Amino acid sequence: MTGVRFPPALHMSLTLKSTNSPITNIVFDFDNTLYYADADTQTKMWHQSRTKLVNLIIEKQHLSPTVFDQLYAKLLETASQIGWSTAYVKLGGELNDYTSVIHQVSKADFVQSDHKLQSLICSLASHAKLHIFTGSSRHTVLEALDIILDQAASYFSDTLLASDDMCLAQKPDPAAYQEMLSVFNLNPATTLFIDDQLPEVNTAQSCGLHAFLIDRDHQYLNPPSPTLSSPNQLLEFISIE
Ligand SMILES: [Mg+2]
Repeated sequence: MTGVRFPPALHMSLTLKSTNSPITNIVFDFDNTLYYADADTQTKMWHQSRTKLVNLIIEKQHLSPTVFDQLYAKLLETASQIGWSTAYVKLGGELNDYTSVIHQVSKADFVQSDHKLQSLICSLASHAKLHIFTGSSRHTVLEALDIILDQAASYFSDTLLASDDMCLAQKPDPAAYQEMLSVFNLNPATTLFIDDQLPEVNTAQSCGLHAFLIDRDHQYLNPPSPTLSSPNQLLEFISIE
């Protein structure tokens, strides 16, 4: 079997520069955090499922098909404020429909091997335990990660909490974060969370985690400080002894 191998976390000696807080665990979001999809790619990747989701609301609520464009735009706008699953439910959709449609989206066709990310994970992995906490399904994440990390997705197979693993709720609901902390057995005070969605970062902070936003496309007008432009920028904000 080929592919990169990441070291075990042996020396827990990572601190946040700003507060000198020790960090023993890092929790990454997956979509648009561990890989980047520009607006065009995101549209190709997600448009079909978003169309399906909006049509399900129209069908189940017996709305006129003419409201499609308006509802689709409203879903995008609301999701940027409160997160995708919450926005879908707020617009009258069912959470079960949301998860089953989202689970069918394959990202493997849209991602590529990322050597910069592989070397970042190598640097971090010997100093902290790394996890993934995602609203996507386990299968689609592992399939895409195997491409991004050159067949090293198995590094995350025990430290991945995907949407279909969660029993209580979905991000950005605080109950999903409590489940994640419990499943990974984490102390929020020594855990760093990284995500590209502001509502998800805000919930992490409200649950006591340290959290950084990644905003590659400058989509937020007043992003919190610090906001990273890529996962690699993380190295500017932490010290590794
Ligand atoms: Mg994301």
